[in-house]
Amino acid sequence: MKRFVVFFLIFFNGLFFAQSEKDFTKYVNPLIGSDSSHELSKGNTYPAIALPWGMNFWTPQTGKMGDGWIYTHKNSGLVGIRQTHQPSPWINDYGAFSVMATTGTLKVLEKQRKANYHNQIVKPHHYKVKLVDSDIDLEVSPTRSSAHFKLSSPAQKKINIIIDAFFKGSSIEIKTEKNTIYGVSKNNSGGVPENFSNYFIIEFKTPFNSYGTWDGSGKLFQKYKLNGDHVGAHVSYDSITDGAIEFRVSSSFISHEQALINLNREIPADQSFEATKANAKKIWNNELSKIKITPVVETEKKYSYDNMVKFYSCFYRTILFPRPLHEYDIEGKQIHYSPYNGEILNGPLYTDNGFWDTFRAVFPFYNLLYPEKMGEIIQGIMVNPYKESGWLPEWSSPGHRDCMIGSNSASIIAEAYLKGNRDFDVETAYQAILKNTINEGPLGSVGRKGFKAYNALGYIPFDIKVNESVARTLEYTYNDYCIYKLGEKLNKPADEINIFKERSYNFKNVFDPSVNFMRGKSEKGDFESKFRPDKWGGVFTEGSSWHYTWSVLHDIQGLIDLMGGKENFIAKMDSIFTTPPTSDFSYYGFKIHEILEMELIEMGQYAHGNQPIQHVLYLYNYALQPWKTQEKVRYVLDNLYGSQEDGYCGDEDNGQTSAWFLFSSMGFYPVAPVTGQYLIGSPLFEKVEISLTNGQNVTINNHNNNKESVYIDKLSVDGKPYNKNWFDHDKIIKGMEIDFHMSNNPNYNWGSTEESIPYSMSEKN
Ligand code: CA
Repeated sequence: MKRFVVFFLIFFNGLFFAQSEKDFTKYVNPLIGSDSSHELSKGNTYPAIALPWGMNFWTPQTGKMGDGWIYTHKNSGLVGIRQTHQPSPWINDYGAFSVMATTGTLKVLEKQRKANYHNQIVKPHHYKVKLVDSDIDLEVSPTRSSAHFKLSSPAQKKINIIIDAFFKGSSIEIKTEKNTIYGVSKNNSGGVPENFSNYFIIEFKTPFNSYGTWDGSGKLFQKYKLNGDHVGAHVSYDSITDGAIEFRVSSSFISHEQALINLNREIPADQSFEATKANAKKIWNNELSKIKITPVVETEKKYSYDNMVKFYSCFYRTILFPRPLHEYDIEGKQIHYSPYNGEILNGPLYTDNGFWDTFRAVFPFYNLLYPEKMGEIIQGIMVNPYKESGWLPEWSSPGHRDCMIGSNSASIIAEAYLKGNRDFDVETAYQAILKNTINEGPLGSVGRKGFKAYNALGYIPFDIKVNESVARTLEYTYNDYCIYKLGEKLNKPADEINIFKERSYNFKNVFDPSVNFMRGKSEKGDFESKFRPDKWGGVFTEGSSWHYTWSVLHDIQGLIDLMGGKENFIAKMDSIFTTPPTSDFSYYGFKIHEILEMELIEMGQYAHGNQPIQHVLYLYNYALQPWKTQEKVRYVLDNLYGSQEDGYCGDEDNGQTSAWFLFSSMGFYPVAPVTGQYLIGSPLFEKVEISLTNGQNVTINNHNNNKESVYIDKLSVDGKPYNKNWFDHDKIIKGMEIDFHMSNNPNYNWGSTEESIPYSMSEKN
């Protein structure tokens, strides 16, 4: 309990955050990724105006209520500023409501109030929009679960503020004596109990002149209270006095009483908008300053600046999710509404994450930069959901969602524990992991679909009505390796963990040496006929055999052996990039956006826009041709990430595609997170300084680095020559001085001896 109180004091009084000399928020462009549609994703993000790991985000809304594409760059009309919890347009939103300002005759519905707008400021801590026709400036600055709004206009005319509590069940009550609106929005996209509600409060600084309520047909009521499928409220000011209309907004998933606690704690009634904004900026800078970048100096200055924008914008994206759903009661104790059983319970709860994406690089980034947060995150995103629902999540938003595959919670739990971040109930987490290995869950994404066949045969056959059977086999295999390593660390008995050690080789069961690809296999043991390596879906998940053949994260040497040695492996790797981006998408019936995104990047069958292949560029290191990793990683850093609205080459996915950039631009990437190794690529900057929370520093000096010098000529660590193709997490966190010497030409001798090869299970089991 005491711990929570201390945390609360540190978190909320703002004094804790050291003054940083430099403003890093100026490099963050929250609009990157927003130029997206159903058909083509350039990130599928919206500008989240929020604190790092905020409970509530705010975003300009241009799309229709219920449409996952909340804000899209090309859509010109603004319908409001929305409180959102959406992790992805494919998953959609929950507990959303919005605020909009108009002048003149009161019109409340989205299509009526939609207005031409001009984004004036879009920063994580501050959004300012000009509503062009009404000449109103609307601004918002966030706190953890609240927001401060400011409305100003040079024109002295009537101002309407419209509150839209959205469809699927909402209610409104205007308390005129308190200048306050109490609302409830129940909209969600599944994965919540019946009693799910977002309780919001909007408190105006000065009394309004008139008010009313409205319903989804646009009908206005002279009532102070209304509920129904879709209701809203409006308040009007005859003119703006004191220069601006300010209001504070907060919400809670627990109650209006708790929303009021959140509001008054985070934004005291007498606090100015400017102070809220300054606090939010300080909190962002406190995080972003943990990694200081010096870009390479190029004659083309835009290149240097854009790289700063790309890095700090990716940093911003990587620390938005997972979302804490817990709140702090009047005593500062963590409590949460459980999206699993509908109860109000003690302790942390995190959500809005798809582990199929984020286990790869987001959680490794946290284990490196935020080890002190990992205990609470694992307790809140794994242990408590398991206690409350009986299952570990794989995709939560806010409760279990039936999306994607795998059992990747095991990787996240094992990685944190093995990296020494252990402030969570590991025994319960371990039992939950074991339960997954012998059960299917209530949803396809929970537990392990096809576990019986997998456990009996060592693979999931394609002909037993379990879809995406090879992808599942490969992911369970890596997850079993994670369980084996975690069990070993926990001193679990050999007869309990050896089975997982054996299953760590199950990838061999779906490999067909006659084609050197992973391939569907029948229950009888025959490979699927009519094999096309470019067939998406079927036995794979959002990818083809070109992408999944490499999903053996913990045993690349084992894969090299299957392919007949390093030469064959290299030839196969090379052919990813030289094979035209053909595809068979008959499984879906249409060309899914991930396929189009693969075609557009013009890297053959390489599909950086989706997760299964995002580690693959680093695999040349295992076959002693590290220069190929270096040139390809640098190409992706320079060409597939941008500083504008179209800056990603596919779904960003809750920090994963951004975390790839963060690691890769620093010069290394966690191919198999649970092994603790980071594979070396091609550092992008002149200098990187990482401040670890244990007080240690990692300094990366990249000599002779520029746009063309993408190859490592030599490398030293703490002043000594270094010829390995990887760094160890254990050593990095003790502080490290890394000196890359870069060159325009490959050095075929560097990183190319047997001692250079990173860990594989087949070598050191
Ligand atoms: Ca994806």
